Amino acid sequence: MEFKIPETNLHYVMEKVEKLKKRAEKLNAPPIKFEIVKEIYEKVQEEDGERTIKFYVINVEGPAPKLNGWTFAATIVHEEGGNIFHVNPSLEASIPADFRNSPSTNCDHCHTKRIRRDTYVLLSEAGQWLQVGRSCLKDFLGHASPEKIAQYAEEIMNLDNIFAPYSEYRGMRLPNYLPLEHILTESAHFVRIEGYISRAKAEEFGRTPTASLVMDVTFHHHQLTNEEKEFFQRKYGEITEADKETAKKAIEWAKDLEVDTSNDYLWNIRTIANAEFVQDRNLGLACSMIIAYIRANTKNEKNGFLDEFYSSEGAKFEAAAKLIFMTSYETQWGTTHVFSFNVENKKVVWKTGSMAFNVEDIGKTFNIKGKIKKHEVYKEKKQTLVERVKVLS
Ligand SMILES: [Zn+2]
Repeated sequence: MEFKIPETNLHYVMEKVEKLKKRAEKLNAPPIKFEIVKEIYEKVQEEDGERTIKFYVINVEGPAPKLNGWTFAATIVHEEGGNIFHVNPSLEASIPADFRNSPSTNCDHCHTKRIRRDTYVLLSEAGQWLQVGRSCLKDFLGHASPEKIAQYAEEIMNLDNIFAPYSEYRGMRLPNYLPLEHILTESAHFVRIEGYISRAKAEEFGRTPTASLVMDVTFHHHQLTNEEKEFFQRKYGEITEADKETAKKAIEWAKDLEVDTSNDYLWNIRTIANAEFVQDRNLGLACSMIIAYIRANTKNEKNGFLDEFYSSEGAKFEAAAKLIFMTSYETQWGTTHVFSFNVENKKVVWKTGSMAFNVEDIGKTFNIKGKIKKHEVYKEKKQTLVERVKVLS
C-alpha cells in the first residue's frame, strides 16, 4: 500500500511503523514491510503563494498474521445491520460468501453459542475456512493472548486508517489533524521547563504560548533557521522519558474524566483525549491537558494539609520537604515560580524567580533550608511563606 507523506510527517509515520514491528515481534508474527520508495518535490498552493514541498512515497505491506499453518483472514464485526468484514489486504483468496450471513453466535471450533461483538475468519494452508470466537483464536494461532492477536490483526487490516491521516497535506502552517500523543509529549516538555503559557497569558506578557512552541518544534521544525534550532536546544533541551510518560498519563486521566456537563472545559479535553488525532483548531486545548492533569493530580494532596503554620516568622529552618505543587505567573519583572511543599504535613510555599524544580520533581522529597518569611492565610487556609531557600539534596 503506497502513501505519499509530507516530509514534516515522516517522523510520526516511522514511529507507527516501529510500534507495529515491535508488536509483531512479541507475537512471533511476520513483521510489516516498510520502505521509502522515492522522494518527490511538489508545488502546493498556500494562502501566501506557492511552495515546493518534499514528499516521501512510502510502501507499507502488512502480511496477515500466520501461525501454525493458519492465516488470519478477516475480522467480522457483527453490526445490527449485518456483518462487516475487515479483510486482510494481503490475503489472496476471497472470503466465502457463506460468512456474510453467519451469526456471531457461531464458533466453528468450540461450538459455544453466545453473542459476540466480533468473530474471526481463519484460512488453513489446506484451504479450510473457519469462523471462530476470540478466545478460540489461540488454539489456531498458538499465542496466549487472543486479544493481542486480534488487535494486531486489526491494525494490519487497517493500515490505511493508520497511515492515511499522515499523508494529508493541508498547508504548511498546520496539518489539519495532529497526532495527540506527540503533541502532548512536546507540551509536557515545555511545561516541565517553563510552566504552561496560555494564549491569554502570552498576549498579556509578550511570551510565546506553549501551543505555538509545540508547533514550532514539530511541524515547523524544518523551517527554523539553524540559530533558532540552537536556541530551542539550549533553552529547552531534549524530550525525556518522563515527558512521554506525563503525556500518556494525561491522556489516560482525561479519557476517564467523569462526564460533568457543567464544566465545558473538562468535557472538551475528555473528548480530545478519546481520539488519536486532534484538529489543529483544538491544539491549544489539547496542550493544556498537561497542566490540567498536573493540577488535578496534585490537588488532593494539597488540600490534605493540617491547618497550621510551620515554625515561626523570622526563624531559620532546615527540613525534609515534599514538593506537592508548582505553578508560575507573570509579573512585569518576569516570571514568578511558586513551589508548594509538605513539611510536617503543613503547607510551605516558596516564591522565587528561578525555576528551581520541574514537573518531574513533584512528589519527591528534598532537604531544604532557609528562613520563614511570613505566616499567612490563603483561601482560608494557613500557609507558611519561606525565603532564601537552598536545596541541599
Ligand atoms: Zn470458540
